[in-house]
Amino acid sequence: MSSLESPTPPGPAGPGPGVLAVDVGGTDMKAAVIDQGGNLHGLVRVPSPHDDERPGDVVVDQVAVLAREYATSYPHVELRALGLVVPGLVDDAAGVGLFASNFGWHDYPFGERVREATGLPVAFGHDVSAAGVAEMRAGAGLGANDAVVLIIGTGIAGAVFCEGRPVRAGGYAGELGHAQVPGGFPCACGALGCLETVGSAGAIARRYNLRTGRTVSGAKAVLAASQAGDADACEIWSDAVSALAFSICQLVAMIGTETVILGGGLAQAGSALLDPLGKEIEERLSFLRVPRLKTSVLGQDAGLIGAALRARDLVEKRR
Ligand SMILES: [Zn+2]
Repeated sequence: MSSLESPTPPGPAGPGPGVLAVDVGGTDMKAAVIDQGGNLHGLVRVPSPHDDERPGDVVVDQVAVLAREYATSYPHVELRALGLVVPGLVDDAAGVGLFASNFGWHDYPFGERVREATGLPVAFGHDVSAAGVAEMRAGAGLGANDAVVLIIGTGIAGAVFCEGRPVRAGGYAGELGHAQVPGGFPCACGALGCLETVGSAGAIARRYNLRTGRTVSGAKAVLAASQAGDADACEIWSDAVSALAFSICQLVAMIGTETVILGGGLAQAGSALLDPLGKEIEERLSFLRVPRLKTSVLGQDAGLIGAALRARDLVEKRR
């Protein structure tokens, strides 16, 4: 990791104990040391290990290798704990990865296994939930109490906060991508009409390709086509905005969401997404409070910083 050893600018995680953070994504796994000042060091991105026979063990092995390398490369940072976050269904409190379709583990005890493999206390959690906590404590959600962080990419995942507290429900809260919306399509999850079949970046590109017979690489190209006046692109973009507005209004009515933080690839559209979305939400709500829409401040590092914050919480509770 010699080429990646220069420290990044100060402090996204704020002051606290030194920890090691690992964020396992479907494609890439990211890791970094977070020092006592909240600076990230040695940020690495490596392909996430996949093994059909031992899908959990292979991740633990990779984490153990990284932990040894960091301990050697950063002897001046005392690592007090390790924060690990993974996708799928996760039981944070039990330290168990319940299920992840793109890895194949079932009820795998990550917390225990990583602790055995590294000798460090381990804080384990869900990637999007951890990213949400990071946004609330160190990003776009600072000062908000009732908020939802929506990560919109290939699919849609959410982190829900009510009265300042994360709502986890044993791993089942925040699955907004699989809530039904009007005009939704059959979903890979087996249900019909899920939000992510219309409102995700993946759906926008897929629907455009299907409808036009052309092949665009992603939602960004569909947005560009819509801005150039392509009627199909305009309709598909507007369907996505309507579906997202529908689901956000449901949240507002149910739990009084006051702030919606948008992350993931689609949020990079900025005002091309936020302006029509905000307008449609406002039109749909009567007396209810219209939520503030914001884009993620921590971006792709949110999950990693969230993993670090979880690890620090573990250390600080033990003091
Ligand atoms: Zn679904």
